Amino acid sequence: MNIYNTLTKTKERLIPRLRGAEARYGEAKARHPSADSTDSTSSLQAGSSQASSGLGKIQMFVCGPTVYDYIHIGNARTFVFFDVVAKYLRSQGYEVDYIQNITDIDDKIIKRAQEAGQNPLDWAKEYRQKFEEDMKDLEVSSPRYIPATDHIKQVVGQVKKLIEKKHAYLIENDGYYFDLKTFPEYGKLSGRKSEMADDAVTRIDENDKKRNKGDFCLWKLVKIDKELEIGNSKFEIANGEPAWGSPLGWGRPGWHIEDTAITEHFFGPQYDIHGGGQDLIFPHHEAEITQQESASGKKPFVKYWMHVAFLINKDQKMSKSLGNFETVNELLKKYPKEVLRFYLLSSYYRSPLDYSDMMFKQSRVAISRIAEFVQKLEKINGADNKTADQHIKEAKKKFVEAMDNDFNTPEAFASLFELIRNLNPLIVSNELGKEQVKNLTKLLTEIDEILGVIPEEKQKTPQEVEELVEKREKLRQDKHYAESDEVRSEIEKLGFQIEDTMYGPVINRK
Ligand code: AMP
Repeated sequence: MNIYNTLTKTKERLIPRLRGAEARYGEAKARHPSADSTDSTSSLQAGSSQASSGLGKIQMFVCGPTVYDYIHIGNARTFVFFDVVAKYLRSQGYEVDYIQNITDIDDKIIKRAQEAGQNPLDWAKEYRQKFEEDMKDLEVSSPRYIPATDHIKQVVGQVKKLIEKKHAYLIENDGYYFDLKTFPEYGKLSGRKSEMADDAVTRIDENDKKRNKGDFCLWKLVKIDKELEIGNSKFEIANGEPAWGSPLGWGRPGWHIEDTAITEHFFGPQYDIHGGGQDLIFPHHEAEITQQESASGKKPFVKYWMHVAFLINKDQKMSKSLGNFETVNELLKKYPKEVLRFYLLSSYYRSPLDYSDMMFKQSRVAISRIAEFVQKLEKINGADNKTADQHIKEAKKKFVEAMDNDFNTPEAFASLFELIRNLNPLIVSNELGKEQVKNLTKLLTEIDEILGVIPEEKQKTPQEVEELVEKREKLRQDKHYAESDEVRSEIEKLGFQIEDTMYGPVINRK
């Protein structure tokens, strides 16, 4: 299994920190290579007989949403992709502990809540719920969600540690800041330097008394005319701004500290995979490295950094601030979740993904093609067929190879469509046996558990139409175009129309 690591800018073999088990994975693969297996019934898992022994534990963290509004489809690209990462790794025998934080305290939340005359924490709670509903509707089921406000104690603990180690300093009546001069490796993820002028990007990081331009806020003090009460539950709202009582004073966390406080609490000071959208490489992830490595003295904080390229709308990153977004909630009213997941996974995660009607149309077509195929399997009763077995094995091998190669989902889809293309003629000529259907169903179920693109409701197409479609396909392949057009007319007379797509012919009722 190879993963592109933003930190080293290379594809690296995945070796879990807990148990260095890639060696065993390699051995397992060599002993039971799904690639070369002669058994089309075997699981997708490399060396499936090794499953119970496990390949090691992977601790994975992905930056979650700031819950002040509905999430958009660009956010969903990142969340659906990492859902696939976790599910695929689990399917291969890794134990994956996948956490996503929920940023439920932030300037944007405070502003929105103030505008609506509401308590910011209630506002965040409402949008956290909407986010989790969207995720459920998109079949994103692999992470556990951890709200930042449940971990204020850990945030304060980490800031105190940074103060003790002289990495953090106080600006009176403002907050505690990280002193970038104390961490010479700053910039190792992004290549940026602490002197760069635009390092401080959020409002709460701006103060002309900072020691270095790029110093960022760890704990923002909030002025409250009330005696300090210390504790997680000691919570006040002053002028709409939430503040927790702590030994640092009334205040709230800076932007970057919630993630490291949460991961240190659940994983310790080091872990395997940290993901997010590419906008977070700088300054957010750079700051996380800076904080955690300074606090613990242990390096590397994270072994593999993974970043998802943007979903773009008319050449610009889709984002709430640019107003060029479409929410997941709205899109789910127009398209089934399988179509949205297919669309989001149809491009390699490190390449940009276009937001366009054409892309959704293609995704719909692709899902119809899969649905039609699955539907046909219900009626199979032909003889056993070795060629079909070979096609199933080949598809399995290609699927695993694609996913092992840095989660190349478009290649993984290609293996599925190739399988459909190869098996359709055999289905029509009744050359597929019940045994193959069993193996095929198993494979499709395993693929679906990872990618989530096989619809439960299947279209019903009459047998007669299916046979005509395959007959036409064969005529087209043999370049008998006039005859193939005649067959198309026959199909249309039966009330169906046929569309030739990159995934093969798709049939729809007229
Ligand atoms: P936010 O709520 O803005 O913090 O974003 C939540 C997650 O979505 C983060 O991991 C972002 O990097 C990611 N994200 C935001 N916009 C896009 C986009 N247009 N394409 C892909 N990922 C995005």
